[in-house]
Amino acid sequence: MVDVVGLFAAGGNARYGESVTQLEHALQCAALARRARADDEVVLAALLHDVGHLAARTPEGPAGHHGHQGAGLLQPCVPARVAWLIEHHVVAKRYLCTVDPRYAERLSPASVRSLAAQGAALDLEERLALETRPWFADAVRIRRWDDEAKIAGAVCLPLAAYRPLIERWLGPQSWPAAAGIA
Ligand code: FE
Ligand code: FE
Repeated sequence: MVDVVGLFAAGGNARYGESVTQLEHALQCAALARRARADDEVVLAALLHDVGHLAARTPEGPAGHHGHQGAGLLQPCVPARVAWLIEHHVVAKRYLCTVDPRYAERLSPASVRSLAAQGAALDLEERLALETRPWFADAVRIRRWDDEAKIAGAVCLPLAAYRPLIERWLGPQSWPAAAGIA
């Protein structure tokens, strides 16, 4: 069991970039996944893609970024695909910057700053290695929702709306009656 709801309750009010909190960002990302009729594993990965920011306080770098930290935390409980998607949402940004110049132009200022720490463009070999992985298309979808999930004041379902999904894999959670959670 991993108490991700407790992590959001403790650290979800931290800012995510310039416009939303970590919790708002997670809820917006999951809502976009649901709206796109993504399956439950992809919705869970969208909801928890940045949980590494809440769980770990180690420096961000290509070898130890928040995607690894989040995947490592959840990997004992969630399906392998969910952990893989959480880990790879970071490299999916580098991938999209490499293959789509317009994508790179639209990144938010905070996202441009973190890109430098996460590593620059991918070479051809790295691109091909990713493109042939069966779940990579899902990682790219999550990445695009991630980039859209930064709208100040957007109205979203609270975390409790995902309770069956979260508890199916992560076990019973603490559900404090806080804004955005209950
Ligand atoms: Fe992230
Ligand atoms: Fe994110």
